[in-house]
Amino acid sequence: NLSYKLDRAFKTLKGTGKITEINVATTVKEIRRALIDADVNYKVAKEVTDKIKEEALGRDVLIAVSPGQLLVKITQEELTQLMGGSKEEISIKGDPAVILISGLQGSGKTTFSGKLGAYLKKQGRQVLLVGCDVYRPAAVEQLKTLGSQIGIEVYAEPGNQNALQIAQNAIEFAKKSGKKTVIIDTAGRLAVDEAMMNEISSLKETLNPSETLFVVDSMTGQDAVNTAKTFDERLDFDGVVLTKLDGDSRGGAAISIRHVVNKPIKFISTGEKMENLDLFYPDRMAQRILGMGDVVSLVEKAQQSFDEDEAKRLNAKIRKNQFDFDDFLSQLEQIKKMGNIKDLLGMIPGMGKAIKGLDIDDESFIPIEAIIRSMTPQERGNPSLIDGSRRKRIAKGSGRSVQEVNNLMKQFSDMRKMMKQMNKMGGAQKALGAMS
Ligand code: GDP
Ligand code: MG
Repeated sequence: NLSYKLDRAFKTLKGTGKITEINVATTVKEIRRALIDADVNYKVAKEVTDKIKEEALGRDVLIAVSPGQLLVKITQEELTQLMGGSKEEISIKGDPAVILISGLQGSGKTTFSGKLGAYLKKQGRQVLLVGCDVYRPAAVEQLKTLGSQIGIEVYAEPGNQNALQIAQNAIEFAKKSGKKTVIIDTAGRLAVDEAMMNEISSLKETLNPSETLFVVDSMTGQDAVNTAKTFDERLDFDGVVLTKLDGDSRGGAAISIRHVVNKPIKFISTGEKMENLDLFYPDRMAQRILGMGDVVSLVEKAQQSFDEDEAKRLNAKIRKNQFDFDDFLSQLEQIKKMGNIKDLLGMIPGMGKAIKGLDIDDESFIPIEAIIRSMTPQERGNPSLIDGSRRKRIAKGSGRSVQEVNNLMKQFSDMRKMMKQMNKMGGAQKALGAMS
């Protein structure tokens, strides 16, 4: 309705340096697209962007920052919060401290076990790696190779198929040999199955690990989220390790997983080499997900269609009752750039009423533009100059009828009256109150 349209119009035209619904809507759409491109699931992306929108509206835009840049900043803050805000360390308690590694086959458990061992060794801990992937002989070999590479002892019992027994023996061995930290690499399956779940949950129940980590391949997108959910329901793990972030993955899984299971991500793995391990920093991941460069340029593009300075300038002119045909033209340009004509028409005070009930689309502006462009600069800046003979000349020049020129002049003068009235009443709120 009119009052709603005008309300929006004034929010926009006031140009007080606040972010407005119009520029937010365009920008938020771009942000949502960027998130979905980064593998954030649609529902989560929508929730996030709705929150961003709410957060953004009404925030003051600093002089040095464009609304677009501010929106990106708000988005980054929001994503950072969504991923837990700050980094979280794993808990290493007990004698020995037991760290249990879970996840599907191929997710990167064995590689990560080695990396974590090397990481903790660097901190001066005595580490023991335990090979509990009893189903594939090659798995224990892989762990042994890694162990010798990083100088960490590997405990294994070739031939023994009882993972729980091996783990318990390993812990005994660690106590005797003075190893304070035991990392248990387990068997995964290609997909979640009962046998695997039973085995890993019994390991967790019996060993009471200081930390149970769930390792997941970030390249698997939506599957990663579902797997995380299933594992968490059975295992109630303490943290997530996101692997293969060196690939094409843009890390959106981090947001979705955190959102769905509400457990912190603690490490990220960025390659096959032992040194390719990092703590998880939510703010850095937010940057990565936004692919800053990408989003910033998208946002800037969206923002080009809405120029805050222009809005300020117009607002000043409206207040001084100097709104002229140049301004009118510039408003039409803006509206055309932003698309969504019907939605946006309410931005021009008075226009809402003037065009009420008309069928408006892009085409509708063609005659109006043609007429304005046929006016001389003097006429545009000072519409009262436009008398009968000038109207005839303008009609001829624009290829429109005199009737059409007259209509436009009438609409324009109605608009100015409306603006004047609003100014007199001392502001948009009062004016809206009186009209609604
Ligand atoms: P597991 O079955 O869960 O123990 O997985 P593995 O540790 O054996 O890893 C499976 C494959 O993924 C191996 O070829 C690893 O070298 C590779 N891999 C593990 N982590 C990463 C990573 O962060 N980046 C890349 N590019 N490859 C990885
Ligand atoms: Mg393995």
